[in-house]
Amino acid sequence: MFHINEPFTCKKCGAQVPPQKKTCRNHCTNCLFSLHVDDTDPGDRASKCHGLMEPIGLEYKGKKGYQIIHRCGTCGKIRLNMVAEDDNQEEIVKINFRNSL
Ligand SMILES: [Zn+2]
Ligand SMILES: [Zn+2]
Repeated sequence: MFHINEPFTCKKCGAQVPPQKKTCRNHCTNCLFSLHVDDTDPGDRASKCHGLMEPIGLEYKGKKGYQIIHRCGTCGKIRLNMVAEDDNQEEIVKINFRNSL
């Protein structure tokens, strides 16, 4: 399978996001926004949408830990993305809080 794992500049907050060890980085470690670049598989970069994906919730997946629910602001697609070790914990708490309102 073709994967691209590269550093990128966040389109939302402008943070420089380094590549992630072990898996493909797919969201900003600072504001947790993602880009709609993957189509069916994480890292396939097959989507033509390129919309900004907002973190709208968290889902607990047992042993795999928490996943961030991202929704594309352009086409409305929903994706689940693993929380990275170096993600901004404050932002994750904020998503959780918004979720529970
Ligand atoms: Zn960001
Ligand atoms: Zn999209």
